[in-house]
Amino acid sequence: MRVILIGPPGVGKGTQAALLGGRKGVPSLSSGEIFRREIEAQTDLGRMAQRYISHGELVPNGVTIEMMAKRLRDPEIRRSGFILDGFPRTVRQADSLQEILADLGLPLQRVYSLYAPDELIVSRLSGRMGCTKCGAIYHSLSKPSTREGYCDVCNSPIVVRTDDQPDTIRERLRIFREETAPVIEFYEELGLTRVIDASRDAEEVYKDILSELE
Ligand code: ADP
Ligand code: ZN
Repeated sequence: MRVILIGPPGVGKGTQAALLGGRKGVPSLSSGEIFRREIEAQTDLGRMAQRYISHGELVPNGVTIEMMAKRLRDPEIRRSGFILDGFPRTVRQADSLQEILADLGLPLQRVYSLYAPDELIVSRLSGRMGCTKCGAIYHSLSKPSTREGYCDVCNSPIVVRTDDQPDTIRERLRIFREETAPVIEFYEELGLTRVIDASRDAEEVYKDILSELE
């Protein structure tokens, strides 16, 4: 499986990437998750990325492309494929990805464009919490963890992301429309895009994605 999940923040890309990855044994490469790990480990890349992420801005293309190219060149990827989540987010990133994948001889199979109304997105993002260790996603109302503040999967602390504040959420939605919506068109022109209604519950969305892949 070699696919991309694309869509506005909070639409459920991370949830679907985890479902697909877990059940199909395909590694999901989430650029946001990779950045958050770098931030936590306080690497140079993490410190640099943090300045953009905390404002809801995009990390510059150059470093983002380099970071994702490194992951995609891992020999494991050739065997298992990949689920890209959060990358590419700009047309420049999409162009580079085409070159990287052509180089590796790993053509894309599908690009899933997940969409949901803005009100739903904002309500999903406010109250969202993530595990600091394994990346599992929770929500204070719709999917609370069993033990408050701790992950059901690995028992590590779960936290609200610093970029899930109302102002930052609005900025991320604006940037999505400006920078990332054109990426969906880019793949539409290549005939790769499939539109998925992500306003339904995660299992239904998952089934839809799988049936589109077969
Ligand atoms: P969401 O999809 O909910 O906005 P992500 O975890 O995918 O969250 O990304 C969080 C933040 O990480 C983004 O707002 C952005 O600052 C940064 N980021 C992630 N992926 C990219 C990318 N491909 N290019 C530039 N910045 C990125
Ligand atoms: Zn966990």
